[in-house]
Amino acid sequence: MVRYVYDFAEGDRSMAGLLGGKGANLAEMTRLGLPVPPGFTVTTEACRVFLDTGGEPPGLWREVSGRLAALESAAGRRLGQPEDPLLLSVRSGARFSMPGMMETILDIGLDDESVHGLAEVSGDERFAWDSYRRLVQMFGSTVMGVDSAHFERALAALKEARGAPDDVHLDAGDLARLVGTFKELIRGEAGEPFPQSPTEQLRRAVRAVFASWNGERARLYRRRERIPDDLGTAVNVQRMVFGNLGSDSGSGVAFTRDPATGRAGLYGDYLPVAQGEDVVAGIRNTVPLTELERLDPTSYARLRGHMDTLERHYRDLCDIEFTIERGTLWMLQTRVGKRTADAAFVIAAQLAEEGLITSDEALTRVCGDQLARLMFPRFDTSAASDPLAAGLPASPGAAVGAAVFDSAEAVRRAAAGEKVVLVRQETTPDDLPGMIAAQAVLTSRGGKTSHAAVVARGMGKVCVCGAEELAVDAEERRFTAPDGTVVEEGMIVSVDGSIGAVYAGPVPLRDSAVIRFLENGSADGGAPGLIDAVAHALARADTVRRLEVRANADTPEDAARARRFGARGIGLCRTEHMFLGERRRLVEAMILAGDATGRDKALGALLPLQRQDFIGIFEAMDGLPVTIRLIDPPLHEFLPDRTGLAVRIAAAEARGAAPDSHDTELLDAVNRMHEENPMLGLRGVRLGLIVPGLVAMQVRAIAEAFAQRTKAGGSPEAEIMVPLVGAVEELRIEREEVERVLAEVSQESGVPVRCPVGTMIELPRAALTAGRIAEEAEFFSFGTNDLTQTTWGFSRDDVEAAFFSAYLDKGIFAASPFETIDREGVGRLVRIAVEEGRAARPDLKIGVCGEHGGDPDSVHFFHTAGLDYVSCSPFRVPVARLEAGRAAL
Ligand code: PEP
Ligand code: MG
Repeated sequence: MVRYVYDFAEGDRSMAGLLGGKGANLAEMTRLGLPVPPGFTVTTEACRVFLDTGGEPPGLWREVSGRLAALESAAGRRLGQPEDPLLLSVRSGARFSMPGMMETILDIGLDDESVHGLAEVSGDERFAWDSYRRLVQMFGSTVMGVDSAHFERALAALKEARGAPDDVHLDAGDLARLVGTFKELIRGEAGEPFPQSPTEQLRRAVRAVFASWNGERARLYRRRERIPDDLGTAVNVQRMVFGNLGSDSGSGVAFTRDPATGRAGLYGDYLPVAQGEDVVAGIRNTVPLTELERLDPTSYARLRGHMDTLERHYRDLCDIEFTIERGTLWMLQTRVGKRTADAAFVIAAQLAEEGLITSDEALTRVCGDQLARLMFPRFDTSAASDPLAAGLPASPGAAVGAAVFDSAEAVRRAAAGEKVVLVRQETTPDDLPGMIAAQAVLTSRGGKTSHAAVVARGMGKVCVCGAEELAVDAEERRFTAPDGTVVEEGMIVSVDGSIGAVYAGPVPLRDSAVIRFLENGSADGGAPGLIDAVAHALARADTVRRLEVRANADTPEDAARARRFGARGIGLCRTEHMFLGERRRLVEAMILAGDATGRDKALGALLPLQRQDFIGIFEAMDGLPVTIRLIDPPLHEFLPDRTGLAVRIAAAEARGAAPDSHDTELLDAVNRMHEENPMLGLRGVRLGLIVPGLVAMQVRAIAEAFAQRTKAGGSPEAEIMVPLVGAVEELRIEREEVERVLAEVSQESGVPVRCPVGTMIELPRAALTAGRIAEEAEFFSFGTNDLTQTTWGFSRDDVEAAFFSAYLDKGIFAASPFETIDREGVGRLVRIAVEEGRAARPDLKIGVCGEHGGDPDSVHFFHTAGLDYVSCSPFRVPVARLEAGRAAL
């Protein structure tokens, strides 16, 4: 029989799929003998049944009642008993952490009678009414659907009437009255009273947590984090412990190492006389954990011990939530903690050095996206004025944007293409859309473990939090700095999440320490230990990876940079990029040439220019392969715009003047060459076969550059690549031409010019006939941009802006197939081509040079598909090296 409920003592951390991350880790802590308040977990499977059918699975409440009875008898108290009632927390917990995105309901079990019992047994009447107030408020908004603003307004009105600056100044009588007001509110808004039956409270709370899986912000978060929609959440029901029971109580959040920089040593925030949600909500400013050592040395020492146990057990950075109830420490949650990119590298290296993990495991603990983040520029503070304010460096990086004061405005402006910084006193889960839209998040309250900090870190977004000196006035849409500077909505601010500073106006950017290291080996700057950690990870990746990494580059400068970044050659040199700028005129002349003589003249002018380009590139990549692709795009891309020309001619005629003869000639050519679907028209190999002399000129330029470099003592290695081949015959004819010219130049120069000739695989037909094509090709390179375009029938220039966000919303795919390889479709063609190509020619070299070559997930696919190399833009080269290493583990 299927079970839907597990006691904490029955599970372990391997059961996260069933018990959710929180439930599995609570079970693991219970197993380790750590002080976890007892409780049980309702499984994700029960949630899935609920989401599918709209009702909980049959028998669920019977199981819950059984567990509850056990909990009650162990506690010696019953839920809802009038004197000394047992109270419960009901918390969500999915397989993957979704901080603050789903519901939590605390203090379940209080009613009009048991609130008095709680007051009596705790000896604290204010505490009892405050707990009841919290329950009615949370239950009213999350379970009964009453707008939370109603409760907040009632609370604010009461504080104002009582002249109380915050909740702590409201006494038991005030809070009891507030409970009355809240209950009235619920009756009015929800049309039914707040339930007085604790079991009804429990059931409805569990259902509300299930339903919150499909809440708007949870769905948005999942889409952003690529968490599948069908997992469901578990529900953890646990005995309440109280951090708000007086000065020897409190709640906190702690990390075994600093999640922002990776620095070793216990780290966190503590809030005396508070419940856990007060810490995360950033409502009051917390004190550093070291303060707890002074306040309660015994609990602090225990906490240290438990955290040490956890880190050694999980062999990774752990974060925890804890509560101290009248001097007794309770562990409420743990998990392997989220961290910044800087911290990920530093911690992985530290743990390896401490012998807790191997170097290979250290490599699995970091990823290409994190490395890419470390390569982003940082602020050049030497060029900045003094900061407006300091805050906590919660999530590193540099961001510049217009200050906005609510989530909706952030979304609106970002959609219009503006860069924005979301400024709030503190964020709540409702701010998620704005946080996603913003370049950075800035808050005036809350610690490094506040909602803003946790979510921003998870998203890799710049964040400074707890900038207390800033007076943020969301109503007036501005903030004021201590020096009196007022920043109104729309004014530019710069936010440095690495040091926790906010500047007025834009601050110039400079290269990050990691880029400087990758570029020239400089080990200066960055978080302590960061450069060493990055160097270690890359060195390990280079040792274990099977995939070679090349770069897409078409200038000597790019080639040289790519080489410094670790590229072992060029996988794609797009020669048409050499026809831009001034040279466009020469291409134009070639297209317009009326006869062979004119055409040869134009091509003759292009030849020395191309040769010079290749000499520079061969020099930069001396001794490494350079794959040069013959011209690919439709020729009219080199001609002026048709409408512009037509307008110019019409304007001249309207003035009664004769149109410029060059213009009319050009317009004729443009009209002649116009294609409705140019990407499926005269381009790629087709150009070489149709336009005389073009390929010969390019090959001659390559071969002469090769000969010249060889004579100069260099070791050029050129590979000639033919684009957009669909049939072996196309390649055969083109190849004959290529070899004819290579032989000619060899003869003329006296240098044997030997260049392998291969093809791109970027049409489904090429993939499906790869065995034939391999008879003529010495290498393949998958052009996955075109292969994706032609496999899906998606125009790569149009669809992403036109409708991809709708496709992502509808779940047709989880990521754009132009960014991450579509394994099922395009990937299948890749596998077929690899298999059939190698069957025909066992030594066939195979790579990929579409954008996917630098995408982490795709790199893993290319590894398993058996490719020899990936080629990507120079800045992605370190990312690809790292991911190729991770793929090999
Ligand atoms: C490709 O199609 O993947 C490719 C690399 O060529 P281009 O992007 O130049 O069409
Ligand atoms: Mg292409």
